[in-house]
Amino acid sequence: MISKQAITAYCKEKGIPSFRAKQILHAFYKEGRRNFTEISVLPRDLQKSFGGVFPIFSFEVAREVVSQTGDTIKTLFKLHDGKLIEGVLMRFRDNRNSVCVSSQVGCGLKCAFCATGTMGFIRNLTAEEIADQVLYFDHWLKKNEKNKLRDRVNHVIFMGMGEPFLNYEEVMKSVKILNDPDLLGIAARHITVSTSGVIPGIEKLAQEKTQINLAISIHAPNQTLREKFMPIAKAYKLDALIKAIKAYIQKTHRRVSYEYVMLKNINDSENLARELAKLIKGQQCHVNLIPYNETYLGFSNAGKSRIDGFREILESFDIPVTVRVSLGQDISAACGQLAINPKP
Ligand code: SF4
Repeated sequence: MISKQAITAYCKEKGIPSFRAKQILHAFYKEGRRNFTEISVLPRDLQKSFGGVFPIFSFEVAREVVSQTGDTIKTLFKLHDGKLIEGVLMRFRDNRNSVCVSSQVGCGLKCAFCATGTMGFIRNLTAEEIADQVLYFDHWLKKNEKNKLRDRVNHVIFMGMGEPFLNYEEVMKSVKILNDPDLLGIAARHITVSTSGVIPGIEKLAQEKTQINLAISIHAPNQTLREKFMPIAKAYKLDALIKAIKAYIQKTHRRVSYEYVMLKNINDSENLARELAKLIKGQQCHVNLIPYNETYLGFSNAGKSRIDGFREILESFDIPVTVRVSLGQDISAACGQLAINPKP
């Protein structure tokens, strides 16, 4: 990543006029230039000297797969220390280009239905490593998308590998990079951080002056069931989590999303739908039902009729509900499928 601070400081130190820093940032972040030699407004000697000092990305691309429909691109990035992470670009028909970013290498929370959880925690990503995933896909779109109205990333969701609130500082720094109008310029309202329920992170976010969205992976409406497949629920109990969410809504006046992955015969019954409705009723919230993408982990998709029935019960309690459109299943890029070496 070409950092704004680093490039500005370098120009100052070398006595290069500051407008050169602006030209460079514009070329990489707005025009999708992928190399200093592509910046024709820069004299050759400056192209060379900047190119020798500033790598464009903090990783290399190790592998890339595109879904059959072309709407999902999953890229395996190799970091400077050889560790691997994945990022996913989803191109929706309504002109949304959404990137699902990883915030950690692996994840230590071990949700039973999640392929990433089987990797364990390896390390936190830096803000640059996170923002670079978005810049990479922004460049990808500028290279591959012919329609100029659709050639930039406009939504980001922290729902790839890792628990973002266990890497809070770097995640918030990356949000600043994504949001900076001189850099990627993605509206804060189009950035969503999704947590499995790390209460201190929710409390900290409530204190931030930001308009980013909060999503909670709730997945079960009671403590007994939740802790069966989400070990984090033992550390952060459901009643305390709901209390923290209510406090967040009260402080920020922002709507939260509850993510609920629909697992066949586990959490998809009508009774559980009613229990969920009672748990969250009256909150400024919205529920996103996620059809489960089957992996080797032994869980099954609840199926359309069970999902529709669940949705109808929530709606009968006046709770707004959407059912997520799932892209990228054929390349294991869908929610819960990100893992470097998924077993067959
Ligand atoms: S669902 Fe999220 S928090 Fe749970 S193991 Fe997977 S990556 Fe970690």
